[in-house]
Amino acid sequence: MTTPCIITVAITGSLPQKSDNPAVPITVAEQVESTHAAFEAGATLVHAHVRKDDGSPTSDPERFARLIEGVRKHCPGMIIQLSTGGRSGAGRERGGMIPLKPDMCSLSTGSCNFPTRVYENSPELVDWLAGEMQANGVKPEIEAFDLSMIFQAAAMQQAGKINGPLHVQFVMGVKNAMPVDRDVFEFYVKTLKRLAPDATWTGAGIGRDQVTLVRWSLELGGHCRTGLEDNVRLDRNTLAPSNAALVRQASDLCAEYGRRPATVAEARQLLSLRAAR
Ligand SMILES: [Zn+2]
Repeated sequence: MTTPCIITVAITGSLPQKSDNPAVPITVAEQVESTHAAFEAGATLVHAHVRKDDGSPTSDPERFARLIEGVRKHCPGMIIQLSTGGRSGAGRERGGMIPLKPDMCSLSTGSCNFPTRVYENSPELVDWLAGEMQANGVKPEIEAFDLSMIFQAAAMQQAGKINGPLHVQFVMGVKNAMPVDRDVFEFYVKTLKRLAPDATWTGAGIGRDQVTLVRWSLELGGHCRTGLEDNVRLDRNTLAPSNAALVRQASDLCAEYGRRPATVAEARQLLSLRAAR
């Protein structure tokens, strides 16, 4: 039997605005509604950033708390993962939501270039964020923007700074970071299996190659990510009408690869997470 696929929906991010696609949820109420529709379409993990009312990114724990409350109420069992990404705050501000004890938080284990800036994750900050997650029983999703970040995550697990099993997301297609490249992708999968045989992984394609990474991940036995954070289009010519539409697109592709979307209970078991709180 093949492994069911955990479909992550990245609902908002810190960049896309309603001017890019009116379906991008900005307020907490919009985020909860969009997550609920995506959940009903087959997503079992929501990856979220929060915004101020003017659309600019923030790491405000109060907004994250309201989002958690809404998602728990409307999407029973769905895995909640909050972003500690660098566009929404500076330094330790980025981890201010970890004590809210979501199921997971994202953790980049190194630095790289982004389209217009350096995505800075100093060893000191990475260790601090990992320590906060460990202290609060929050599982990190390692955001791997290049190969060194996979090695760093494995080393941190060895050093006891991250509890296993690891869950790693291979991110491809961010301008100035790792492009969408099949050979590299396969090497990522192979390397992770070698360094951390019990690890799980997800592929995330940014922009027009979102579906490419969904397909590759389904093919090679991983999990997949979609959503308006990474891509606002359903295809080259069509804006995605909703996060749910992108989830349906991924969900429909599962059968082509002999896979099916995981249930929330399966998703939690696959990621070694406790039952819903
Ligand atoms: Zn994100």
